Amino acid sequence: MPTILDPTDLSIEIAAEALRAGRPVAFPTETVYGLGALTLDAAGCAEVYRMKGRPAANPLIAHVLDASGARAITSAWCPRCDELASRLWPGPLTIVVARRPEVPVVAVGGRPTIAVRSPSHPVARRLLQELGGAAVSAPSANRWGRISPTIARHVAEEFIAEDDLVILDGGRSQLGLESTVIDLSGPRPTLLRPGSVTLEALREILGEVDAPEIVEQGASPGTAARHYAPRTTAALVAFGGIREALAGQKAPAAVLCFDSSHVPSPHTATAMPRDAAVYASALYDALRSVDSLGCARILIEAPPSSDGLWRAVVDRLRRATTA
Ligand code: AMP
Ligand code: MG
Repeated sequence: MPTILDPTDLSIEIAAEALRAGRPVAFPTETVYGLGALTLDAAGCAEVYRMKGRPAANPLIAHVLDASGARAITSAWCPRCDELASRLWPGPLTIVVARRPEVPVVAVGGRPTIAVRSPSHPVARRLLQELGGAAVSAPSANRWGRISPTIARHVAEEFIAEDDLVILDGGRSQLGLESTVIDLSGPRPTLLRPGSVTLEALREILGEVDAPEIVEQGASPGTAARHYAPRTTAALVAFGGIREALAGQKAPAAVLCFDSSHVPSPHTATAMPRDAAVYASALYDALRSVDSLGCARILIEAPPSSDGLWRAVVDRLRRATTA
């Protein structure tokens, strides 16, 4: 069983010491909890892949304190990168650019690029400060393909057999969805993963930003069509279509919807928030809860919009409900 620690100064020192010794540590960020190793420590990064069961080709996001931390591990930090960092860091925006040669290939899934972000969560920042600003590569602290953790207990449940794992407890991850990922390594800025920093906000700063539908692993490994998924079979239903979808459903289903009065027994309804930000922060917790009910199916009502922050929510719901 992992050890969950309150984020005292001593716990931060213990976590930093574990990282320096090559042992991954879980820590809170404002998006979701991460499982980290020092970016420049190839063995530590390899251990993160082993613990997660993550395919070796899926690159990790490096966490830094600021743009100068990003410059230390990248080789083509550009004026656009600085513009984004000065406007949106610290925060849920990950920037992909060319990496420095000293970054081990294991930390980037063998790629010539590296994804970098500066988290705003105070506990993540204290840990980075304790490490003297060294970058920490950290994917979400869950077994591969599963739902990202938004509280410390979820992390412990994912890694129940990892007795040496230290988890810093920073309360609930406020945003609840993984960061927005933008690729600035090519000729045109390209959105690789929607998140709490919206496409609209990025376009306001950068002008044109491509936003291709990414369902294949190739362009951005980790964006598999099925990802962030519960174990129970789950389906996405059109907004307002829950009553109809349940008409032929005899076995008890678990339903995430906006109006629970549309859900008759024997089904179980979870009413979801109508505000996109509140929905995003509640989603993974709700998915974990309904996944543990033992229902035959999970039905999820699609949000009323796919613009702004809803774009990220719809993206995760699609991946959670792809067979
Ligand atoms: P996470 O699993 O939340 O840490 O997210 C990491 C995701 O960021 C990966 O699965 C990719 O989708 C994206 N990513 C990270 N590094 C790169 C990179 N060098 N090139 C393209 N996408 C990347
Ligand atoms: Mg992940």
